[in-house]
Amino acid sequence: MCGIFGMIGSKDAANLVYLGLYSLQHRGEESTGIVSYDGEKIVYHKSMGLVSETFNEDNLSLLKGDIAIGHVRYSTTGLSHSKNIQPFFAKHKKGNIVISHNGNLTNTVELQNEMEDKGSIFQTTMDSETITHLIARASNKDFKKDIISALFRLEGAYSLILMTDDLMVGARDPHGFRPLCLGELDGAYILTSETCSLDLIDAKYVRDIEPGEIVFISKGKLESVKPFPKKKHSLCIFEYIYFARPDSDIFGENVYSVRKNLGKQLAKEYPVDADFVMSIPDSGNSAAVGYSHESGIPFEIGMIRNHYIGRTFIQPSQLVRDFRVKIKLNPIKDVLKGKRVVIVEDSIVRGTTSRSRVRTLRKAGVKEIHMRVSCPPIISPCYYGIDFPNKEELIANRHDIKWIKDFIGVDSLKYLSVDGMLKSMPKAKSEFCTACFNGDYPAKIPKIFSKDILEKA
Ligand code: SF4
Repeated sequence: MCGIFGMIGSKDAANLVYLGLYSLQHRGEESTGIVSYDGEKIVYHKSMGLVSETFNEDNLSLLKGDIAIGHVRYSTTGLSHSKNIQPFFAKHKKGNIVISHNGNLTNTVELQNEMEDKGSIFQTTMDSETITHLIARASNKDFKKDIISALFRLEGAYSLILMTDDLMVGARDPHGFRPLCLGELDGAYILTSETCSLDLIDAKYVRDIEPGEIVFISKGKLESVKPFPKKKHSLCIFEYIYFARPDSDIFGENVYSVRKNLGKQLAKEYPVDADFVMSIPDSGNSAAVGYSHESGIPFEIGMIRNHYIGRTFIQPSQLVRDFRVKIKLNPIKDVLKGKRVVIVEDSIVRGTTSRSRVRTLRKAGVKEIHMRVSCPPIISPCYYGIDFPNKEELIANRHDIKWIKDFIGVDSLKYLSVDGMLKSMPKAKSEFCTACFNGDYPAKIPKIFSKDILEKA
């Protein structure tokens, strides 16, 4: 759960990266950073906190140069610590290497063990540092080949932006788990996680970086290579369900349209008689509109979101999460009192957030609550970059739907089927990863997941 943005070929590179990160903030609220090359040296500013809290006129004015990359982070692996804030950079005999990484590698422990046996010392617990070491140790006499041979050693999920003093590199793993696209503004190239960040700076969307593709961009020229053996595509379906912004196009389709399709399919599979359909703003909005359109039941706004706090799912501590649910949403009692409502949720992870929302709605006088979830039950953790909790904490892994219905406190609870979810997608079902819904992992999973090590430590 991270957002990455890079630009080369503009004298305003760092300022535009800053704006780009603003629109990727939903992908990680824990820390952020920008690194640029000012013509003589690498300059950077990084901090825990939001983009708006981290950057100001003074520190941005120091980030000079026509190449810059940035990152917004939520710690899926590696401690939540200032040492782990990306972009990660290192200097070695081949020059400077700076990396922004989205996704989780699944062979980090093996790679780190191997390199530590040969004398490497790691400063952080991040996947990204592993990549830097692999590049530094490669000996091809050609820096681009060093990058390619380093990426050959990686397993799992990565969308990467890498920079040196005068080169920006974009890479997407052969499965294509996480999105990465290419944009252009006045001859400058951009690499970014989502297209909504291109819209913000009036840049043109050029194309997606393809799974298994590496692009090298320098002096206005782009070179593309596809060095890896072909692997089955495994685009993360959860990007469409929850994670990406609805105004972005990812994997070739608009996220809002896909979410609306999910809501329509949900209405076909699980109709119910009710006075109105509502969402829990904002993430359930698009699917709720779809449910309303398909069922013919009017859509109403039953809760108002306080926009001056972050997304609850993104906060790591359970204590903080429960508190934030209460301050985040306020019901409109006049709309809700005595009504039978369909609530469309995008997903249920632990169930505690939904339970808290339902209690709030009951207090507001709602007569019947029928919850419809626009994805199937989440039964397995994600090892490829979405921060689901351990298997034991996933409510649908431990309990059946009847138990969950009673726990949450609704009159009925239905989840979209796996088939229905795949039918709502713009591509063939074989193109997607659905492992969190069926345990069918398309790429090797780690022997030891570094987050588990850290949680035990
Ligand atoms: S396991 Fe789920 S969240 Fe993780 S990549 Fe696959 S579809 Fe996405």
